[in-house]
Amino acid sequence: RAKTEGKGTYRFFEADMGAQIRERRSLEHDLRSAIANGEFNLVYQPQAQVDTGAVNGFEVLLRWIHPARGSVPPALFIPIAEESGLILKIGEWVMREACREAATWMRPLTVGVNVSAVQLTSDGFADLVRRILDETGLPPQRLEIEITETALIRDPNRALQTLQKLKSLGISIAMDDFGTGYSSLSNLRAFPCDKIKIDRSFIQAVHTNPQAATIVRAVLGLGRGLGLPVIAEGVETSEELSFLDMEGCTEAQGYLFGRPAPIEEFVPLLSENVVVLPTSPARTMAK
Ligand code: C2E
Ligand code: MG
Ligand code: MG
Ligand code: MG
Repeated sequence: RAKTEGKGTYRFFEADMGAQIRERRSLEHDLRSAIANGEFNLVYQPQAQVDTGAVNGFEVLLRWIHPARGSVPPALFIPIAEESGLILKIGEWVMREACREAATWMRPLTVGVNVSAVQLTSDGFADLVRRILDETGLPPQRLEIEITETALIRDPNRALQTLQKLKSLGISIAMDDFGTGYSSLSNLRAFPCDKIKIDRSFIQAVHTNPQAATIVRAVLGLGRGLGLPVIAEGVETSEELSFLDMEGCTEAQGYLFGRPAPIEEFVPLLSENVVVLPTSPARTMAK
């Protein structure tokens, strides 16, 4: 350590790193008891038909209400749960709760559950899911597992084996956040996949960034060519929805249709025969 300024900067950086590490340890510590303390809950976000607004299913998103910190974002605690291995127990809890809930619905809507790489490549994951389906009575056709491409490259052989088992049970697989991370088109061919979810970063830029619009069109073309349905994530405006409709995207999810919320808020959607979500007035007028 040479200069005075350099040393100061270094110390500041060091203190900052220390605080980050302590913060992480503290969150990991608290995560260990979060299930037992009932600090987790699930919220549900509708997935709808672009042209009619009819609901096809819901994605399940985990929420953690920390007793002192309040709501902790998944982007902060999921990586800690993954690195510490706690995601195995937490993910099992999510899967069981989600299947239990979906089994009570009066319509055969799908339920999408996010599964991390650690879970997918853990021992007996497919058996665990099969047991949960048996236990809850949810038909496998109604469960959709969302995985990211990053999950596949961790241990491709193992991931492939597990995905094949899940598929043979009748469960479907959606490729989440498509187009980001360790994306490779060959993943769609090498791994059994039933649906592509276009990442919300592309959707949110379709009207400001021509490259994003080109990528969305390309992914839709890929889906058409491979015979894979494509769902757009993070649709917030009627302009984005019109663009998707025009480009032939048939399914969407995002704040425009509904924010993730406790399932109680969606009760009417769970029982009616034909239910249409509110899209925007501009869209209704254009049709
Ligand atoms: P994801 O699976 O890609 O989930 C979509 C995220 O986008 C959710 O964030 C959702 O609240 C948000 N979102 C949906 N529509 C919109 C929109 O119109 N605008 C904007 N700005 N955001 C929108 P959330 O709930 O914070 O979850 C973040 C990530 O955490 C998820 O990304 C998923 O990777 C992970 N995650 C959440 N729950 C679980 C879980 O139970 N298990 C695992 N392994 N990961 C989970
Ligand atoms: Mg997801
Ligand atoms: Mg996603
Ligand atoms: Mg994401």
